[in-house]
Amino acid sequence: MRLSSRIQHVVPGGDDGWEIYYRARAMAEAGETVTMLSIGDHDIGPDAGIVAALTRSLAAGHTGYTPVEGTGELRAAIAATRPEPTAPEQVAVTCGGQAGLFAAMMAVLDPGESCVVLDPYYATYAQTVRAAGGVPIIVPCRAADGFQPDAGAIRAALRPDTRAVLLNTPNNPSGAVYDAERIAALVALAEERGLWLISDEVYASQVWAGSHRSPRALPAGEPRTLVVGSMSKSHGMTGFRTGWVIGPRAAVDRICELGVTTTYGLPGFIQDAAAHALRHGEAAAAEIRARYGARRAAALAALGSGPGFRVVPPAGGMYLLLDIRETGLTGDAFAARLLERCRIAVMPGESFGAAAAGHVRIALTVAEPLLLPALREIAAMAAGLAMPAAAGSSAG
Ligand code: PMP
Repeated sequence: MRLSSRIQHVVPGGDDGWEIYYRARAMAEAGETVTMLSIGDHDIGPDAGIVAALTRSLAAGHTGYTPVEGTGELRAAIAATRPEPTAPEQVAVTCGGQAGLFAAMMAVLDPGESCVVLDPYYATYAQTVRAAGGVPIIVPCRAADGFQPDAGAIRAALRPDTRAVLLNTPNNPSGAVYDAERIAALVALAEERGLWLISDEVYASQVWAGSHRSPRALPAGEPRTLVVGSMSKSHGMTGFRTGWVIGPRAAVDRICELGVTTTYGLPGFIQDAAAHALRHGEAAAAEIRARYGARRAAALAALGSGPGFRVVPPAGGMYLLLDIRETGLTGDAFAARLLERCRIAVMPGESFGAAAAGHVRIALTVAEPLLLPALREIAAMAAGLAMPAAAGSSAG
């Protein structure tokens, strides 16, 4: 039977960029020991107080349907996380940040309209635009520019049918935290050209250098920004699938209506746990932040500097990008060889767009006793592959 062209084009060519991860998972399931530095799933679970709030809610019978837009308590708790004035009615609770991204795309794109996706980008982005019937326009953020967004390059790529720019700061995979001036330039461009800004801020709690800026915090950004957020990273709650979209009431109301056709609301006991986490879980979030901060510092020290590789020190987030172009391999080839030889799984930079080609992304999602030896093996493999000229120049 015929399938819609829309669904067939969500993942064109069948390669969704997760090949190495799937291979590593199959090896682990077959009993091999694989160090998983590939996907962004924490080894740190939610705090015991959050789990207790969930079981209390379950025991109290919060097991029925819930308001599709989110419980009043959770919407208020999410609104209170924003630095700029935000009403609970401006928050739509979604099934993870991912469903928030999809809902935001559905809210701003008509079929065939385009959305700028800044490259490197989280691996689902282009698929999410296509799933909503849109067309991604990929605009590179250059490695030489610290992977910061370039408003001039975005302006040059705009088409008459472009409706939105999707940005992600702190950025997955680059670790870039967008500067205040870059955010201001994006807001100015969006205002001038009547564009939406879809601002994915799921890593806002993990900033190591500089400070997190949201386009919504600027007066000109507020009416044209949809912020996507999540409990996944800040509170180690990936499996709770709790995220949100924050924006102008008219857009949020429509996004809540979309929820009626998809998830029909999040389980009440999960929303109660999430509300508890936001109201009382700052210590738990601080603990997660501290652990990632310590891992980042230890990882930078363990890796040192090439031959064969160059570390891109992350200003935010829970990943580290390694430039391995000196090895002469693509990120795909390097990651495949690393998995084969060392039983270490990382993500090829190419999974996140052409701007991160020749890089691999290392998730800092395992504790130091496993992480640091794995990083030394990665550095050793890169050094062994370093092309003679590069190795010579690094040694000199
Ligand atoms: N945005 C970015 C940049 C991400 O890295 C992720 C998850 N890795 C998400 C959104 C979605 O997260 P979730 O659906 O778990 O909230």
